[in-house]
Amino acid sequence: MKNLLREIPGIDKMVKNACFKKYPDKLVIQTLRSTTNKIRENIINQTMKNDVDIEKVITKETLVELEKVKSNNLRKVINATGVILNTNLGRSPVQVSVLKNLIETAGGYSNLEFDIETGERGDRHSSIEKLLKDITGAEDAIVVNNNAAAVLLILDTFAKHKEVIVSRGELIEIGGSFRLPDILKKSDCKLVEVGTTNRTYIEDFENKITKKTALLFKAHTSNYKILGFAHNPSLKELVTLGNKNNVIVVEDVGSGLFVDFTKFDLPYEPTVQEIINTGVDIVSFSGDKLLGGSQCGVIVGKKIYVEKLKKNPLFRALRVGKLTLSCLESILRTYLYDEDPVSKIPILSMIKEPVSSLKLRAKKLYNGLLKTLDKKYQLKIENSESEIGGGAYPGVKIPSIAITITSTKESPNSISKNLRKCEPSIISRITDNKVWLDLRTIFEEDINLILRETKTKL
Ligand SMILES: *Cc1c(COP(=O)(O)O)cnc(C)c1O
Repeated sequence: MKNLLREIPGIDKMVKNACFKKYPDKLVIQTLRSTTNKIRENIINQTMKNDVDIEKVITKETLVELEKVKSNNLRKVINATGVILNTNLGRSPVQVSVLKNLIETAGGYSNLEFDIETGERGDRHSSIEKLLKDITGAEDAIVVNNNAAAVLLILDTFAKHKEVIVSRGELIEIGGSFRLPDILKKSDCKLVEVGTTNRTYIEDFENKITKKTALLFKAHTSNYKILGFAHNPSLKELVTLGNKNNVIVVEDVGSGLFVDFTKFDLPYEPTVQEIINTGVDIVSFSGDKLLGGSQCGVIVGKKIYVEKLKKNPLFRALRVGKLTLSCLESILRTYLYDEDPVSKIPILSMIKEPVSSLKLRAKKLYNGLLKTLDKKYQLKIENSESEIGGGAYPGVKIPSIAITITSTKESPNSISKNLRKCEPSIISRITDNKVWLDLRTIFEEDINLILRETKTKL
């Protein structure tokens, strides 16, 4: 039996192999070292065949690792899942006009904190704040890193060592470990739970208001719905109660809509404008959910409170950069000044696209796949159901169209794995033992990419 351990060549010998020429020396040495260590362990654990050329094995493995670091880890994928706001796939896509603006402002210098008129130091938030005020009708506004940061800032500013009253039906957990009770604890607030899981009344809130009460907190149940024998006080009722007792009323609305979604045949949800109209003191929401922008958290509300938020040193730690500000400003301008924002903002146009138009794209993809795919695959155009996702409209299905792929020779898991190996990766959905490519989240320009890639990878 060969002693494989002894046959491992020195790093300085292996590094000279011509196949490593195109990579930086330092990186090759590091990678050779880690691969050699891994292989040495495999030999010791006897998970390695004995009749191999050990240098070849190490070289091959090292090349695979080097290729992995060469390409960006964060890269384009094709979302064929039909879930429009897919948090795993980066939530909302951003329209090209916004990105063009981004290249211009962030690719060079900008007046981020410079007042062009006076030539003096300016405020990075002022123009965004004005746009947010114009859209929502709120007295004041600020932007932070994400909605979780917004909630944290609100609690830290107003409720430290005080009590926050929340309905038991709204003690939410959002994916990615956002748990309201934990955030309250982190902010040194005392959570006062009222009501029951399914029914809470305004009297439950009223009975718990004491001198220590800082906030009445309403959270949008973004990713679940309590149906049947259920009740929660309306925001209006909370506002009246808050005003009567001099307690601040806050709503975390999660997604934050600027347009009426009933025109997309979706159930009624109040817009941020309507929420502000109730007289609520502070409202927070995400920038990359149904708003359609990049990640950020927006807080709008009464001036006296928003000013306090701005003065909290934590605000400086949670502030956003120029990339985010540029992106958000372009989106807000689209909402305010474009004649047809719905057709410009990808998330909204995806939700709105009629099934008849999805059918046309499905035909194009289907005909293309019929020509390029191996005959072992069966293809079908089928009715499908998309979801909004991303913690918005839980349980609501939108009629859609999909191509399904099946094969008697290959499992759905294996087909979907091979689709993921495409470049860009195609992320599909498996239901009823079939692989689904849902056209609602596949862009027109992705169709040719899918055809090109599946030709060789499926
Ligand atoms: C999504 C969501 C959050 C978290 O927002 P991020 O922007 O992801 O931090 C908080 N609260 C509610 C109600 C949400 O829906």
